[in-house]
Amino acid sequence: MSNYPQLKLYIGGEWKTASGAPVINPADESILGTVPHATRSDLDDALAAAENGFRIWSRTAPAKRAEIILKAAQIMRGRVEEMAVAMTLEQGKPLAQSRQEILRGCEIIEWDAQEGRRIYGRIIPSEPGMRHSVLRQPIGVVAAFSPWNFPMSSPARKVGGALSAGCSIILKASEETPAGAVQLVQAFADAGLPAGVLNLVFGNPSDISEYLIPQPSVRLVTFTGSVPVGKRLSALAGAHMKPAIMELGGHSPVFICDDIDPVATAGKSVIGKSRNAGQVCVSPTRFFVQDSIYDQFAAFFAEKAAAMKVGNGLDPSNQMGPLANECRIAAMEALVADAKSKGARVTAGGSRIGNRGYYFPLTVVADVPDDARAMREEPFGPLALLSRVRSLDEAIEKANSVPYGLAAYAFTNSAHNADRLAESVEVGNLSINHFVASSAETPFGGVKDSGFGREGGVEGLQCYTVVKNVSHLTA
Ligand code: NAD
Repeated sequence: MSNYPQLKLYIGGEWKTASGAPVINPADESILGTVPHATRSDLDDALAAAENGFRIWSRTAPAKRAEIILKAAQIMRGRVEEMAVAMTLEQGKPLAQSRQEILRGCEIIEWDAQEGRRIYGRIIPSEPGMRHSVLRQPIGVVAAFSPWNFPMSSPARKVGGALSAGCSIILKASEETPAGAVQLVQAFADAGLPAGVLNLVFGNPSDISEYLIPQPSVRLVTFTGSVPVGKRLSALAGAHMKPAIMELGGHSPVFICDDIDPVATAGKSVIGKSRNAGQVCVSPTRFFVQDSIYDQFAAFFAEKAAAMKVGNGLDPSNQMGPLANECRIAAMEALVADAKSKGARVTAGGSRIGNRGYYFPLTVVADVPDDARAMREEPFGPLALLSRVRSLDEAIEKANSVPYGLAAYAFTNSAHNADRLAESVEVGNLSINHFVASSAETPFGGVKDSGFGREGGVEGLQCYTVVKNVSHLTA
C-alpha cells in the first residue's frame, strides 16, 4: 500500500526493521503492513539510548530544545495529507477527522515547546544569609504507552510533554495503529533531535511494559488506555516507586437541561457522538434529558443519527468510519441486546452494516434503564444512551454513580445550573454548551477510575518534572 509508511522501530537515532504482526485496515480488512516487534535486546538498547539521550537533552538550553521541537511540528504540518491518509487507512476515521487530529497534535507539541521555556522555579523569602531556591528539573527517562484510537495526538501529548520538559522517552505506541507514531518520530528525526532522546518500540504490550517499568533508569510511566490495564500498570509503577500519569476510560454524561433548544442540541450531540465512531474516552454517552424536552430531543437525535453516512473514511462523503476491529462490533451488539432485554428502545442503528469492514451505525437507545450494562460499562463505540430525568439533581446523582470520572458535558443557559454542575459533577473536565473536552493549554485527565495526573496545560508539563529545594547559607 503506497500511502502507508514502512513500519520500523527507532532506537538510538536508528531505524530498525524486524518481524512482527500484520496491521489490518478496518475499512476492508486488508493487510496494510507489518508492525515490527522489539526483542529484549532492542529494549535494552532503547533504555541505554534513552539514558544517554537524557544526559544530552536535559543539558540542552530550553530555547534550543523548543527550536527543535517546533521544527518537528512544522515538518508535520507540511505532511498533513500523507499522515492523514495513513491514519484513515489504519484507524478508519474519516479523512477530515484524521487531518484535524494531526493539526491538533501539532498544536499540542507547539504549546508544550513554548511553555517548556517557562518551567520556572521560585525563590522563597527567608532570613538574611539564607537562600531557598525551588528548582523544577526534568524527571528523567519516560516510558510511554499510547492507544490505537488517536494514533498521532496521543503520542504527541506524551512526546511533546516529555521533550519540552527536558526528558527523554521510550514510546511504545499502539500495534494496531502504528503509522501515526512512526511519522511523528520521523518528523523529530528530520528536525535534528539528538539520538536517543526519542525512541519508538512495538511488540507484545504487556511484555514491554512489564520489562520497562521496573528498570531503574525509567523515572515516569505514562499510559493511555483502559481502566483494567491502567490499574495493572499503576500497581507495577507503585511497586517500583515510579510516579505515573494514567489517562483511562470514561463514560461521559451529558446533561440536557430544559432551558435549551432540544432540536439544535440534539443535532450537535449527533456530531459529538459520531466523532471517531464513539471510540473516544471522552465520547458523550449517557444523555440525561429533562422530562419536558425528552421526547423532542430523542426524536430528532434518532432522525439525525439514522441519516449519518457510514463507510470508508477515505470517501469524503462518509461521516463515520468503521470500528477498530471485530471485537468492538461484538461489544456493541451485546450492550444493545442487554439494554433491549431490560426494556430500552433502539430508535436508530443497532446492528452491523455489511460483512466486510467493521461498520456499525450510530445507534440511539432510548429509555435506557439504570441497570442496563451499557449505563455502567464504557461502550467505547457509537452508542448514545438516552435517559429521562425529572431534575438536574437526579441527573447528577446518576452521572456520579459510575466509577468513571473523565469528562462531562452540559447544555444549559442557566447560570445556576452551570454553577451546580461545576460544583457537583465528579470529573476532570466539564464542558458547558459545547463538546470539546480538552485543548493544548488546558489540563486534561480524570478522577476516580478514570485515572490521575494530567496531560496538557501547565499541570501536564509539571508531571514531567521533579521539584528540588536548594537551601544555601551564604553568610
Ligand atoms: P487497552 O487498555 O487494552 O489498550 C489500549 C492500548 O494500551 C493499546 O493500544 C495497547 O497496545 C496498550 N496496552 C494494552 N495492554 C497493555 C499493557 N499491559 N502494557 C502496556 N500497554 C498496553 O484498551 P482497549 O480496549 O484496546 O482500548 C479502549 C480503552 O482505552 C477504553 O477503555 C478507552 O477509554 C481507553 N482509552 C482512554 C483514553 C484516555 O485518554 N483516557 C484514550 C484512549 C483510550
